[in-house]
Amino acid sequence: MESIKTDILIIGSGIAGLSLALRLKDLGEITILTKKRAFETATSLAQGGIACVTEEDDSFESHIQDTLVVGDGLCKKETVELVVKSAPERIKDLIKWGVKFDKDPENPEKFHLTLEGGHSRRRILHVGDYTGRAIENTLIERVLEIENIKILENYFVVRLITENFLRPSKVIGAFVLDLTHIKPIIFLAKVVALCTGGAGKVYLYTSNPDTSTGDGIALAYQIGCRIANMEFVQFHPTCLYHPKAKNFLISEALRGEGAVLLNAEGKRFMHKYDPIRKELAPRDVVTRAIDMELKKTGAECVYLDISHLPSDYIRKRFPYIYETCLKYGIDITSQPIPVVPAAHYLCGGVYTNLWGQTDIPNLFAIGECACTGLHGGNRLASNSLLEALCFSYQASIKIREMWEELKKIPFKEPSVKELSIKEIKKKKYSFLTIGI
Ligand SMILES: Cc1cc2nc3c(=O)[nH]c(=O)nc-3n(C[C@H](O)[C@H](O)[C@H](O)COP(=O)(O)OP(=O)(O)OC[C@H]3O[C@@H](n4cnc5c(N)ncnc54)[C@H](O)[C@@H]3O)c2cc1C
Repeated sequence: MESIKTDILIIGSGIAGLSLALRLKDLGEITILTKKRAFETATSLAQGGIACVTEEDDSFESHIQDTLVVGDGLCKKETVELVVKSAPERIKDLIKWGVKFDKDPENPEKFHLTLEGGHSRRRILHVGDYTGRAIENTLIERVLEIENIKILENYFVVRLITENFLRPSKVIGAFVLDLTHIKPIIFLAKVVALCTGGAGKVYLYTSNPDTSTGDGIALAYQIGCRIANMEFVQFHPTCLYHPKAKNFLISEALRGEGAVLLNAEGKRFMHKYDPIRKELAPRDVVTRAIDMELKKTGAECVYLDISHLPSDYIRKRFPYIYETCLKYGIDITSQPIPVVPAAHYLCGGVYTNLWGQTDIPNLFAIGECACTGLHGGNRLASNSLLEALCFSYQASIKIREMWEELKKIPFKEPSVKELSIKEIKKKKYSFLTIGI
């Protein structure tokens, strides 16, 4: 079987994987593997934005409190403090790489900030209503400029390789299926980072892309890593309800800007479930309220209405949502949008410490596949892009610390019984015949 040596192996090309590669670009050869095209990630679909304290009348304490309250008492406070307090520096990283956040039209020195459920004030930086796409494209551009970082598309990681197969001691690479040539390949590396995203696709109705199938969590579990909080799946209250729309999210920022929820009779209902915060209650509260309304009325969806705002403003502030809904025959400047809740975000994942390290030496997990303790039982809106950025930074610091030692250790080839493609297919890509 062909084997390829790379100093650092990153699995996943979303914000976690790309930002980690950029942070480590001077250390050696870096390979980013992705099972589809590089831009096919949850990152590309993020609309709302990224939370960060930027205004003088906002405070870290307030962002920390909002995160803890929404996490329902189950967040790890030291993680929350780390992420919230490092957010301004991590936003500077994105700006340095070329992401251009929207500025306040009235004061171009300042960012335009939007509001989302669970935040006690406006603190979400965004790029129109396509923040994730802007981040993904910019990071891919930067990565492609760097000679020693390769992105390999259509490379599906099926198993991690560890020293000592039966009692995994440290990770030394991965078994990968090259989907273009239907060929198994071994990648050997000194450090492996799982940046494989969430698992929304285990649900029928989800906002997630097809890539979100929990692979990183399975890969880590197979070699003995702890997995935590998998029961905490966040449902987004407002996904477009239309027979032809696959997984199109209607951003929370619409409610932040004043959109209201209506039941099948055209009546507002959120005041019955959360009289103070109403539409801006956290996602779990709004989702349960919608679910209750659907069960009570037997209707298939509820409606999100922003049509009371000026049409020009709606088109300018939400161009992507406006255009996409129009494609499905819904003009959001004059019609309410049919919406239903859908699986959106996995709060749990591969258990890591504050440096992104898993239980297996030299294996890191970053982004949605990781469980850092930031989200507890429920994620505060727009905290996840931030978490991925913060932990790619933390992991990069740790990997740098370890590098002098790691680079001295030679690559170790696993001894593998060769399997024909027919056998691999029959065995459902199981590589359990490995011995080291
Ligand atoms: C519609 C939508 C809107 C969102 N809006 C926001 C928002 O406004 N703000 C916010 O903070 N968060 C938002 N989120 C959440 C946020 O986008 C994600 O949590 C974040 O982008 C995850 O980044 P990631 O790098 O961990 O994973 P992803 O961006 O999902 O990337 C995962 C990568 O791993 C690869 N991969 C997976 N398995 C394998 C395998 N076996 N082999 C090889 N490659 C593999 C995939 O191909 C992909 O390249 C939103 C999510 C969705 C779905």
